[in-house]
Amino acid sequence: MTADIRIAPHILAIDPYVPGKPIEELEREMGIRDSVKLASNENPLGPSPLAAAAVRDAIDHLHRYPDGAGHEFIGALAAHLDCRPQNIVMGNGSDDIILLLANALLTPGDRAVMPRPSFLMYAIAVRTVGAEPVFVPLDNLAIDLDAMLAMVDDRTRLVFLCNPNNPTGTIVRREAFERFMAALPPAVVVVVDEAYIEFVRDPECLQSIGLAAADRPVVTLRTFSKLYGLAGLRVGYGVMPAPLAEGLNRIRQPFNVNLLAQAGARAALADHEFVARTLTLVHEGLDYLYAELDALGLTYYPTHSNFFLIDMVRDAQAVFEAMLREGVIVRSMRGYGFPQFIRVNVGTMDENRRFIAALRTVLNVIEPAGGDPA
Ligand SMILES: *Cc1c(COP(=O)(O)O)cnc(C)c1O
Repeated sequence: MTADIRIAPHILAIDPYVPGKPIEELEREMGIRDSVKLASNENPLGPSPLAAAAVRDAIDHLHRYPDGAGHEFIGALAAHLDCRPQNIVMGNGSDDIILLLANALLTPGDRAVMPRPSFLMYAIAVRTVGAEPVFVPLDNLAIDLDAMLAMVDDRTRLVFLCNPNNPTGTIVRREAFERFMAALPPAVVVVVDEAYIEFVRDPECLQSIGLAAADRPVVTLRTFSKLYGLAGLRVGYGVMPAPLAEGLNRIRQPFNVNLLAQAGARAALADHEFVARTLTLVHEGLDYLYAELDALGLTYYPTHSNFFLIDMVRDAQAVFEAMLREGVIVRSMRGYGFPQFIRVNVGTMDENRRFIAALRTVLNVIEPAGGDPA
């Protein structure tokens, strides 16, 4: 007898998330070495050294279950954010919190409004629970709050904002957000994904921490994956109204954030030196890359984050493959509706220079696409 596996239809409707391939796998496939990965917005400096040391120390306690309530970790977060522990839910990455929110807030047939292109996990989470994602196109690469508002109806329970938006690097400004909130029905929860918020220098940018504690229907998502260089450790969190946090904690796996992750993330919060070094590297790297791209005559879209889009005026998949042969991994934006754009994150200065050198080669090797550069 062969098994008769029947995946639920709403699960079959999900487009699988395609992560950037690990550097080792690409090197093996291409037969290259010493490649530079600028495709997943990771921290090029490596992990926070204080976090790495705390993880090493915690290894001796691996025979114990982690603290399921995350008492010390969440206490440190509450102090860091100046909010109450009751407002914080910890996650195995912020991806975990996105799934918990969908499970806690949506029933089949409910709707969640989200920008497109944006982070792909929002739609996956919404479809996981049989609810319906409603996609709202960007306006000039930025989230269009008016258009999103127009798509909110009485089946809408959730709205996702990504600030800065991945993959475009644009921000939502405080004033525009407040106008949006004033017009939103009170039963809608707004999730603001701030995975890259620490890189923002614009003082008008919305900072949503603090809104939840003031009983606004807002969830702030944060992660240790980018600024703190801990993507492999898997730690993120949400800050939300206490009753919502209580709801998420009912369905959260009791040990969703492992012992090493809690210890490492807590230590990272105190690593001010590493944070400062990362921000300087990213901001100086952007200045360098913009100047080089100007010199090459390429159009790019200035960012509020640690990554940005470049219009290659060529098929992005062909550019991706040609860059790979030069040992530089970037992200093709074809799957995001930009068939001629690549997304690249800032690396170390050495990596940035290698990226520019590879780009120069690739521009010479690949002809610009003819006709309408749609
Ligand atoms: C990288 C990223 C995250 C972080 O996800 P983790 O699960 O915490 O690693 C969240 N949102 C966006 C938009 C991201 O780009």
